[in-house]
Amino acid sequence: MKFSEINLPSNILEKLDEMGYEEMTPIQEITYPIISAGQDLCAIAETGSGKTAACAIPLVQKMDPTLNAIQGLVVVPTRELCMQYVGEIQKIAANTPITPFAVYGGFDKEIELAKLRHGVHILVATPGRLIDFLYNGQISLSQVKCAILDEADELLKVGFLEDIEFILSCILHKHQTLLFSATMPEDIKKLTHDCLRDPQHISLVTKRAAPESIEHYFSYLHPKYKQTELIKYLEEENVEQVIIFCNARHKVDTLFRTIRQDFKDVEYIHAGLNQGKRTSIFMQFRKGKIHYLIASDVAGRGLDFSHVSHVVNWDFPEGRDRYTHRTGRAGRMGKKGKAFTFVTKHDLPNLRELIDRKQITPSWIGKDPLLESREPQKKKAQKSRRRFRPHSNKVNKKAE
Ligand code: ADP
Ligand code: MG
Repeated sequence: MKFSEINLPSNILEKLDEMGYEEMTPIQEITYPIISAGQDLCAIAETGSGKTAACAIPLVQKMDPTLNAIQGLVVVPTRELCMQYVGEIQKIAANTPITPFAVYGGFDKEIELAKLRHGVHILVATPGRLIDFLYNGQISLSQVKCAILDEADELLKVGFLEDIEFILSCILHKHQTLLFSATMPEDIKKLTHDCLRDPQHISLVTKRAAPESIEHYFSYLHPKYKQTELIKYLEEENVEQVIIFCNARHKVDTLFRTIRQDFKDVEYIHAGLNQGKRTSIFMQFRKGKIHYLIASDVAGRGLDFSHVSHVVNWDFPEGRDRYTHRTGRAGRMGKKGKAFTFVTKHDLPNLRELIDRKQITPSWIGKDPLLESREPQKKKAQKSRRRFRPHSNKVNKKAE
């Protein structure tokens, strides 16, 4: 269905047209009537499927420009996602009198407070900074009609959960709550009942949270060969932009120092950088001025970089759905993308779990380390071929 076929005011429709949004994506089409009707919702759809606009369009439409108060509240887990989310709402609302604004840690509080005093209709926030303002009585949520948790499963995990409970407890009156994510593990899904009232559950992810447009490559190797393999891979591939994920800040730092000896336009991002530097790198990467970004999981969720052609997992992702979120930074909106993951002996249990859940169809560059356990009768024949070949480029595509 086209946006022109639904009941949108011309000031929003014209803007969507300028943004190149003509056809609604499936999640946008399904959730629009639910959100417009004021129902609570838990919506799951793959990475890069347009969940931000699915939420932002009806949200902007719901706002009353004559009421100078926060009426829409969006909570997101990272600062960069906060900037990106508010950017999308600003574009959609550009021809309307609605004012969206973002508050997040690391930015000047006084500037944020001045803007808040001036009047904000839709507030996008990270939990920490929002709670800071709530504790100090600097923000009121008494007029919020609609509260949104983006990357909801992340926000309902231990670490964020208490913050979210506190934030939602500040909205005492009847309101609408919307949860969006690409993933929703069963244990977290139970927690959603506490924040939703008679909700609709929409899941467009029956088997996979990863788009079909991403190809998943893996290489099984000894850690000491990773560097050589990575450099070779980046040189051989037609890389437009790549994010290389590590599991710890110090690994990001070390890999950055190594990679920049061989490549230009390399930068790195993790939560240890000051916010000015983080924002600058995020913006430069979005504009395509940086080609190689070494990152921690701070860049693993929600960020939309339309030119990312490749995602590399230097470290095998820890935690259930991290693989899906990291690799979902490529292959957005049907664009082709490639994921390349290093697997060492230590990662085999996690690899097995990932493949068992059938989230992806793996292709092996070199040896498939799980082949023997799946086909024990061939064990002997393969033993002679077990030797690791770090430079093998043979792609061993396994049909699931
Ligand atoms: P998700 O939150 O599902 O991961 P995003 O909301 O970040 O996805 O959207 C992914 C990309 O798709 C963004 O670049 C966004 O501008 C674009 N997009 C969203 N909706 C549409 C649409 N209806 N038509 C074209 N592009 C769209
Ligand atoms: Mg998103």
